[in-house]
Order: sequence, then C-alpha cells, then structure tokens
Amino acid sequence: ELIVEAIDLHKDYGAGTLKVQALRGVSLQIRRGEVVAIMGPSGCGKTTLLNCLSGLDRATSGTIRIAGQDIQELTDNELTTFRARSMGFIFQNYNLLPVLTALENIELPLLVSGVPPREARERALASIEQVGLSRWARHRPAEMSGGQCQRVAIARALATRPAIVWADEPTGALDSEASQEILDLMLALNREQGLTFVWVSHALEVARRAQRLITMRDGRIEDDRSLVASPADG
Ligand code: ADP
Ligand code: ADP
Repeated sequence: ELIVEAIDLHKDYGAGTLKVQALRGVSLQIRRGEVVAIMGPSGCGKTTLLNCLSGLDRATSGTIRIAGQDIQELTDNELTTFRARSMGFIFQNYNLLPVLTALENIELPLLVSGVPPREARERALASIEQVGLSRWARHRPAEMSGGQCQRVAIARALATRPAIVWADEPTGALDSEASQEILDLMLALNREQGLTFVWVSHALEVARRAQRLITMRDGRIEDDRSLVASPADG
C-alpha cells in the first residue's frame, strides 16, 4: 500500500533573477510500514521536500498523493484538516506548548480535530504510556529533559493514529544517548504498530538506522537504496 506517491515535483522560491529552484523534478514512493531517511548537504532541498509532501507548503508543480488523496487538489482548509487527521509531525525543537502539561500537549491536536474530550483523554493516556512517560503526564515541558520532550512529541503524533509521521532533524537537539533512545522508540513503534516514518536529517547516526536511505543533491534525488536485507522480497 502506497502512503506517499510524488511525481515530478518542482518547487521554486521567488521569481526572475532571484528564483531558487529548490526541487527540480523529484519522484518517489513510500509504502506503509517503511522507515525512510532523507539525507543530503545543507540547502539541497530536504526541508522543502518534507514541507511539500506533508502539505505545509505547496509544490510549484507535480503530483502528491498521500494515502491515495491528491493533496494538491485540496483547498488550504481541507489540507489543514487532512494533515491533522492523517499525519504526525516531529521537529528538532519538539514544538510543545510550554503552558500545557505533557498530557495536555498530546490531547490538544485531538480536541482540535474534533475527537470528543473523553476519548481524547483516553487516547492521550494510552499514547503517553506507549512512550514510557505516564509518570510525567502532569509535568510541563520545562521540567523535562530534551529526550523526554521528544517522547511527548512522538506520543502526540501517535495519538492521532497517523498514516505517516514526518520528522525533521528529530535528534538535532539531543545528545547521542538520548538520540539513540528516540530512534529506538520510533523503530519500536514501526515494528509493533507498522507506523510509517520519514526522517529528514544530515546526521549519519540517524540515516544508518533507517530501512531506506534517500540522498538528495541540488533539488534532486541522487540515490535511493535499501539499508536492510529484504526478508521476503517479492
Ligand atoms: P535543506 O533542508 O536541505 O537544507 P532547504 O529545503 O531548506 O534545504 O533549501 C533548499 C534551497 O531553497 C536552498 O537554496 C534554500 O536557501 C532555498 N530556500 C528554502 N526556503 C526558502 C524560502 N522560504 N525562500 C527562498 N529560498 C528558500
Ligand atoms: P534547514 O537547513 O534545517 O533546512 P534552514 O536553516 O536552511 O533549515 O532554514 C530554516 C528556515 O528558513 C526554513 O523555514 C526555510 O524555508 C527558510 N529559508 C531557508 N533558506 C531561505 C532563504 N534563502 N530565504 C528565505 N528563507 C529561507
């Protein structure tokens, strides 16, 4: 089952002599249950690709289907709703709201997308347990370590039952031990629940743990390879 299908994506910033061609014809497919890392030097277009695929930004041309939905056809409002219902996001700096507790941070996107409060609370509690932070449910981000904050962000993504989770430099603000724990957690969720992850990173320690590594250069895919021996090819 294809979760991501992108065909000949182009993204320009600016116009005329100031035009930057950030994506120059990117096509790729991602299946349910894959863990894909996108690597490449600064400025090669990784964040632009992630933003276009996840609908945070609009591609200049090309086709993007997410779980079968052509997202270029959606209005901005429809796209916002689609994103909230089918995608999780993990950022380098966690993007937690400081005035809310860990549990409230996990609940908020559920409430915003219309999940009834009681169900939102139950799903948030189940998610925080899955990332091993039940005892921290009533603490605020400032009281937690970076690794714990990123676990809350993962629980927040998980609670929405997304078709795909996008992570932009998920370990960028963490020391190497916390980084490995966060990667371990995402890989466990992939194994146990079949969750699909796309990691954008310039860190080798992230890329080497993915199942598939896409390398970008100058707005194009330069290389796309499996990092695991396929157990049942075909
Ligand atoms: P990466 O994530 O690989 O570092 P980006 O996707 O951030 O690459 O950037 C790709 C290219 O697009 C770079 O040349 C960058 O300067 C340019 N770029 C990114 N965002 C913008 C923007 N909002 N306006 C103009 N140029 C941009
Ligand atoms: P990264 O390297 O992690 O992709 P950057 O530091 O390149 O991040 O970019 C941070 C933000 O600045 C992004 O939102 C990107 O779109 C924007 N940006 C990057 N390059 C430019 C640029 N030349 N002009 C305007 N905005 C840019």
